[in-house]
Amino acid sequence: MKPEATNPADESPAKGLFLGEFRDSRLFPFPKISESEKESLSLVLESVDRFMSGKEAQFRRFDEKGEQPQEYVEELKALGLFSLIIPAEFDGLGLSNSGYSRVLQQTSRYDASTSLTIGAHSSIGLKALLLFGTDEQKKRYLPRLATGEMIAAFCLTESGSGSDAASVKTYATPNGDGSWSLTGEKIWITNGGTAGFFTVFAKTEGEGGKMTAFIVEREWAGVSSGPKEDKMGIRASCTTTVRFDNVQVPADCVLGEPGKGFKVAMAVLNNGRTGLGGGCIGAMKRLIEHAVAQSTQRKQFGKSISEFQLVKEKIALMTMLCFASESIVSFVGALVDAGVEDFSVEAAASKVFVSEALWTVADEALQIAGGNGFMKEYPYERVVRDCRINRIFEGTNEILRLYIGLSGMKDAGDSLKGVAKGVGGIFNDPIKGFGLLTGYATRKLSQVTPLGRGSFWRVAAQLKPEAAWLEKGASKLGQAAEATLKKHGKGIIGEQLVTKRIADSAIDLFVGMCVLARVSSIITERAGGDCGDEVALARVYTHFARTRVSNSLKGLVQNSDRDLLRLADGTLSKGGYSWDIL
Ligand SMILES: Cc1cc2nc3c(=O)[nH]c(=O)nc-3n(C[C@H](O)[C@H](O)[C@H](O)COP(=O)(O)OP(=O)(O)OC[C@H]3O[C@@H](n4cnc5c(N)ncnc54)[C@H](O)[C@@H]3O)c2cc1C
Repeated sequence: MKPEATNPADESPAKGLFLGEFRDSRLFPFPKISESEKESLSLVLESVDRFMSGKEAQFRRFDEKGEQPQEYVEELKALGLFSLIIPAEFDGLGLSNSGYSRVLQQTSRYDASTSLTIGAHSSIGLKALLLFGTDEQKKRYLPRLATGEMIAAFCLTESGSGSDAASVKTYATPNGDGSWSLTGEKIWITNGGTAGFFTVFAKTEGEGGKMTAFIVEREWAGVSSGPKEDKMGIRASCTTTVRFDNVQVPADCVLGEPGKGFKVAMAVLNNGRTGLGGGCIGAMKRLIEHAVAQSTQRKQFGKSISEFQLVKEKIALMTMLCFASESIVSFVGALVDAGVEDFSVEAAASKVFVSEALWTVADEALQIAGGNGFMKEYPYERVVRDCRINRIFEGTNEILRLYIGLSGMKDAGDSLKGVAKGVGGIFNDPIKGFGLLTGYATRKLSQVTPLGRGSFWRVAAQLKPEAAWLEKGASKLGQAAEATLKKHGKGIIGEQLVTKRIADSAIDLFVGMCVLARVSSIITERAGGDCGDEVALARVYTHFARTRVSNSLKGLVQNSDRDLLRLADGTLSKGGYSWDIL
């Protein structure tokens, strides 16, 4: 179905927070998987359960050996798990972004490496073809990608180019007949050893010039992959180098426009974040099941350890983090499915929040298991190893925090520029100038008085105190963003500690919007039925976030940043830690 046209007022609720605004119309009622998709999705989930349950020992063997046997990958193909997001007209299941994320949630309850094999294929490997491919390119490749005859991989990272993705050295030179000669080496490519279809990013305008995205087939002369990397986690997934030695790429294998490859890469990564998010949620749900079983069965001091408050605290934290993660990932999926164009800050916020939530949940579940948690015989150590990667790949959480902070402040900065221009232009164009000033004055008022503050008014009555916290938090974030810009101007680019605090506040407030909206929708649906647990969830989240946001914003004015940077510089210049008690 064609997405409905986007109303600009609904766009980027996370960026709205930087202006103290609540762009919340898409949050109420809280989005759900569409009725039309529910049936087919349920069938996929059931077949995943049937196929993957009871295979724990097998997944452990794959992890020890560091590979998925070919017969296992063939079974994944037969289940249709490589066709999830490919439209039905190209023989795929045609799931929405939300539906796809839900499937990865299910596979991740059992095995993260399986999720990565199918996730790297769909979320990033073939995504550029879906988003930017021509009809002819789609007809040529998508049916083969849907069956898994061709597995897809995304080739961006190089030994000298990780977070600084625009600095790739792989290059493609035009041959004169429209075709290209491609040379370079990519590292840590998921599905690198098994893929038949590669989305490859290469410089096409010389070093320092722009990038272009290409389709490359494994069968072409000059394409080769290295041995499997021996990894800490997700060990059974296949990670290798991929080399391109003067590969001749036909003219019709450019994805998108030549020179626009960076845009293609970023669009793919943004669009794919709900896959990673779904995977993290599935792992959290399984860990919570383990923690419940472990804590109720294990007896110490004559009682189940689940009766102790310090264990209950962990169970509650895990439950709250999982609900908050599910809320933000579902909402981002719904934004993508609705055709909203500007969702990159929300998607980045979801990746940071959810990958860190899973890390905490895995750590707490292991702690509840005590010494058993440390033993290979139990599932915890593998999950801890598997989930660590989520904070690193598809954009490190540091880079994403900088992106969130700077993107949000850019909008605040644009609005300040508008004011400055408006003031200058009052005499030439009083109506325009007045309009700008009126908007600015309203916003200033809204930031300092509860009366004019942006309102999160659709929230259920039971949650008004929590909504009031959000409103105050957004208003403080708006003031902080403005003060920061005034203080640092363009120099904000180098002020990473400041940007991180702004980003962290925005992430926690945005997740808060999702949590309160979701609980409000549950309350409305139950029409007077008991929602005590959900209200408790919302309150626990608010308390957790309130402390974090308050610390982040206070840190903007009161911190030890100068000493902290001095300490780091000292350690760096001395080559390490330089004290001893001898
Ligand atoms: C198992 C695995 C699978 C992968 N799969 C793929 C794949 O399929 N395709 C693909 O293209 N890539 C893949 N990657 C690569 C992955 O995306 C990169 O590892 C990631 O982008 C980070 O790059 P890097 O490892 O070079 O770290 P670096 O960029 O060297 O960063 C190292 C550290 O420095 C920090 N840092 C860097 N720059 C800044 C800055 N400006 N400010 C503050 N901090 C900074 C980072 O946050 C990080 O903590 C995979 C990696 C792994 C480990």
